Amino acid sequence: MTKTDCTLYENVLLGTNQNTIIQIMLGVIYMDKLIKNIVSTLQENTTNFIPPLVDQVMVEFGCDPFFILISCLLSLRAKDSTTIHVCRDLFSNVKTFQQLLDVPLYKLEKIIFKTGFYKNKARTLHFVSYEIIKKFNSIVPDNFDDLIAIKGIGPKTANLVLGLAFGKPAICVDTHVHRISNRLGLITTKTPETTEVALQKLLPKKYWIEWNKLLVVWGQNICTPLRPRCNQCAIFSFCKRVGVKSFR
Ligand code: SF4
Repeated sequence: MTKTDCTLYENVLLGTNQNTIIQIMLGVIYMDKLIKNIVSTLQENTTNFIPPLVDQVMVEFGCDPFFILISCLLSLRAKDSTTIHVCRDLFSNVKTFQQLLDVPLYKLEKIIFKTGFYKNKARTLHFVSYEIIKKFNSIVPDNFDDLIAIKGIGPKTANLVLGLAFGKPAICVDTHVHRISNRLGLITTKTPETTEVALQKLLPKKYWIEWNKLLVVWGQNICTPLRPRCNQCAIFSFCKRVGVKSFR
């Protein structure tokens, strides 16, 4: 028993703050059950939708961290439905960081043109490849600090790589995760950074990796940014619909 457990136990015995302690414990139990219900309902109801981009890439090209990292960088501010075709074009000939670096910049820009921001993205892909070859012997780092130390890799990409490529508990917070977690009323945050911290405190670690996949699919198909489809939503009964003013 920890010191905190002892204090709680003593407080219960002494009758000090007993109601408060019981309320806290009931709140924790309620929240655990709520999250479990949301996850299991989304697991059951997302199977007929197209998976997020990186999951599609993993099915087609395997779980090599190279494909996961590069596809994630290409998908930034781009539609999955467009990025998957670009990934197919690129990965048909390019399967390593050295091969990516060997593609001339003008040619790389042409291949990834459809994802938008292609000039910046092409430079980022080259720079990231160069850094990983030189500093990490061509092996994608498996820790957060090394990943985000590489210019062009942000927390969202780093967490996705950690979770999907290395199976390490990490919550990738993109626009869908940030929006839906707040709409559900699970958290009250203003930025993806604070959302990540809030979700780390709230979600059991076993859900950290999957939370992104489930909410991305839900956000692309049901809980859309504008006028979400609340009338078709399988998790309607678990949702507080915070900030939702108009829905379908
Ligand atoms: S009920 Fe509406 S706001 Fe809540 S998760 Fe479903 S679609 Fe989103």
